[in-house]
Parts: sequence; structure tokens; C-alpha cells
Amino acid sequence: MLIVMHQSATNAQVQAVTDAVKAMGLTAEPIPGSERTAIGVLGNQGYVDDATIRELPGVREVIHVSKPYKLVSRDFHPEPSIVEAAGVKFGDGQSPVIIAGPCSVESEEQMLAAAQIVKQAGAQMLRGGAFKPRTGPHSFQGLGLEGLKYLRQAGDAVALPVITEVMRIEQLETICHYADVLQIGARNMQNFDLLKEVGKTGHPVLLKRGMSATIEEFLSAAEYILAEGNPRVILCERGIRTFERATRNTLDLSVVPLIREMSHLPIIVDPSHATGRRNLVSPMAKAAIVVGAHGIMVEVHPDPDKALCDGAQSLDGDSFTKLVAELRRLENLLESV
Ligand code: PEP
Ligand code: MN
Repeated sequence: MLIVMHQSATNAQVQAVTDAVKAMGLTAEPIPGSERTAIGVLGNQGYVDDATIRELPGVREVIHVSKPYKLVSRDFHPEPSIVEAAGVKFGDGQSPVIIAGPCSVESEEQMLAAAQIVKQAGAQMLRGGAFKPRTGPHSFQGLGLEGLKYLRQAGDAVALPVITEVMRIEQLETICHYADVLQIGARNMQNFDLLKEVGKTGHPVLLKRGMSATIEEFLSAAEYILAEGNPRVILCERGIRTFERATRNTLDLSVVPLIREMSHLPIIVDPSHATGRRNLVSPMAKAAIVVGAHGIMVEVHPDPDKALCDGAQSLDGDSFTKLVAELRRLENLLESV
């Protein structure tokens, strides 16, 4: 960190800043200049909270050299990470991973039918929400534990690992028992207590970007999980809230190559929640792969028009099968580019 003092800063003010840095257990190295003094801060292991320094008299600017997300950043870990979950590898440079399944587990039959469809089409992981974060309390809230059991059964029946959302710390133990990957939804991306507990489990985590989270906030949320000793984090871009109303969200595809530069963690794209419209899911899934996503997560329902949740953005079996075939062709094409 570098503290730049105002041109008019007095020696006493420079001294006060130096003392404040020392009080934080760090070393302050004043660098006198002809115009203004700068104070270099040394000895920090990572990002330093500058709140107390910034407010001191005579301070003009605080420049951070270290990022608030040290563990997830490429500075700390230059090689890309491969996150493995029940035999499925994210970020291994092979085929992008396809996760698919219904928004919510609705019944034993619906979950099994969805599992058969996605397996047959070639997906590598099955999704299904048992505990649902719905915007309104009168909407279907998910089947809870019963749904979790149907999801596991369906996954086992077709030999696919399963992923489901965890909303509360109290659900963690049960969900870890039934699911291979824990999903942290957009609405919980900054539920820091939940992130810490998920970090303690060591279970693979799919962390979705919050609806209005900046990249720094997104990566800092991932940092919470890694800081607890769990490096098995997969990031997921699922669209952000903008002024546009024609689509449910705005898919920010530029984060894929950008995060690949900034972080070693794998990143996938969810074109279903990003667009909210089934006709846009396939084009945006393909676009995600072109920009370098390590996978996609798509909502698929045996009968989308009857879905209890997110039917408008869910693909049916035929459209999903077509999409997977197109994605595989696209991958071959990309290899030659
Ligand atoms: C979901 O994947 O079911 C979901 C609720 O997504 P998000 O948290 O991105 O809205
Ligand atoms: Mn959904």
C-alpha cells in the first residue's frame, strides 16, 4: 500500500500517519519527494483495510498494491486451478462441463424424467433446487429435504453427480450428505457467514455472482470460502441487474475472459437465469463457450410449460439435446481456431 500525502502536509501529519501504520503492526517507509511525501507500507500479507489511514489529516490518496482477494488471484496462484467434484473436472482444459436439470425438484417422477433427459443428451452433472430462494413468499418454495432425496435418487439412477442450492447454515450438514456440489445462489453471494461455513466443509462450491455484484465483490466472496481452507470453488456468471427489462438479467460475458485473467478459479455461465427466455438460452450458452467458459448450467424440464418455477427459461428435452450436440460441434471448431 502506498499513502500519498497532500503537498501541504506537515511533518507532524506525516508522523501521525507513520505512527498509525506502525500501530497496525506494519512498517512505514516515508519516501520524500520534491512536491509531496509518499509513505510506503511494508510487511502486510495481503490487502490492508485503509479505513483509519484514509481519514487522517494530510492524506491525499491511498493506493493499494495488493488485492482484497489474494487467495483467488493469479498473483498468488498463477496456474489455473482444476476443481474436481465427484469425478467431474472444471477447468481441466478438456470439454466444458454441462450441468443441467430443472430449476426446482417438483416430484420424484419429474426429477427422474429430467435426469434421464439430461443424461441421455450428454450432461455431466444434474441440478435441482430443493430449497428455493423465491422473490415472493407465495411462490413455490421447494420440497426441502424430500426434494433433496429425489434429487439424489435421480442422480444415482442415471449415474450423475448432483448440485443443489444451500440457503442457510443449518441446511449445510444435510445438503453435504445428499449433494456432490453446494450452490450458493446470487441472493446469498454476500451472506458472509454462510460463505465461511461452506468454506469449512471442504465440499465443492458453485458460487453464483450476485445480481449487482462487481467483479471485486464477486472475487472477494470467493475469497471468504478459500480463506477457510476450501479451494474447491467454481464461479458462475448468471447475469446482472441493469436498466434493461426485455431480458431477466443482462449476461455479462466479458467477465469470463476477465476473471480468467484475474483468477485461477474456473468460471461457468448460467444462460437460463441470465436471459429468462428459453429462445436465448442456446445462443448465449454457445457464446459462453466461445469466450472461454469452463462450463454452463442450463435449466431443463420434461414439460417446461408446466414447471412450478422458471418454466419460461427452461429447455425441453429436444432443445437441450440439440444444444449439447451443437456445443460439442462448436468445441471441435474452436480447437482449430
Ligand atoms: C438457481 O440456479 O436456481 C437460482 C436460483 O439461481 P440464481 O441464484 O442465479 O438466481
Ligand atoms: Mn431457476
